[in-house]
Amino acid sequence: MTDVMLTVYHLYPDLLNLYGDRGNIIAFRRRCEWRGIAVQVREINLGERIDFTDADFLFLGGGSDREQDLMAEDLSSRRANLRDAFEDGMVTLAICGGYQLLGRYYRSLSGRVIPGLDLLDFYTQAGTTRLIGNVAVGISVPGRIVHVSGFENHSGQTFLGEIKPFGRVLSGHGNNGADGTEGARYKNVFCSYMHGPLLPKNPALTDYFIRLALERRGRDGFLAPLDDGFEDAANQVMLSRLKIL
Ligand code: GLN
Repeated sequence: MTDVMLTVYHLYPDLLNLYGDRGNIIAFRRRCEWRGIAVQVREINLGERIDFTDADFLFLGGGSDREQDLMAEDLSSRRANLRDAFEDGMVTLAICGGYQLLGRYYRSLSGRVIPGLDLLDFYTQAGTTRLIGNVAVGISVPGRIVHVSGFENHSGQTFLGEIKPFGRVLSGHGNNGADGTEGARYKNVFCSYMHGPLLPKNPALTDYFIRLALERRGRDGFLAPLDDGFEDAANQVMLSRLKIL
């Protein structure tokens, strides 16, 4: 598939990059390139004006309360453009701190409220105990449920409104440690608390996102199979450690 190039926007890479979340960009890019699909990655920092409708895949990583505070105002200045891109089916992965700010607000433990974009129907408030540890989630991709593993570390507890979860917690805390949901999904916007980074050891998810991006461009979403032995083994180790297998 050498006649297509996918454009990836990495938003606030210097601020939202906890636990090597930029590894998600690497996984997306390499699994495209291994199939002959060219990828260009643009790092978008504070104040840099861009048009999200040019992006095929948008990534926001995790960040501490401090970093979220630093980028919230800049993010809010992009609300209308992001809303249009979300509605147009732009494939988006938002992890933890980046996830939280797509909702109504994030209220920190000190009671400080960081306004979110209010583009997705959920809110987040910090709890007194951090939700930390390895996590396994059942996620529905066309035709099957995949068991995905990751790592979570957040004080924020997210409560969903009229929006689907990304998946169901099989082991670990998830959105709030109580309702069994993990993350959120709206159209092609996928939100999760799973660091790791998430995509390198969950190739089925990466390929799902690539297919969605190609199909949004009117391209055939078929992807030649790859030898995922190493990635699957890494995932199996975590799932067996969490007694999911
Ligand atoms: N600051 C947010 C929280 O503690 C997000 C943390 C993160 O991105 N890991 O919930």
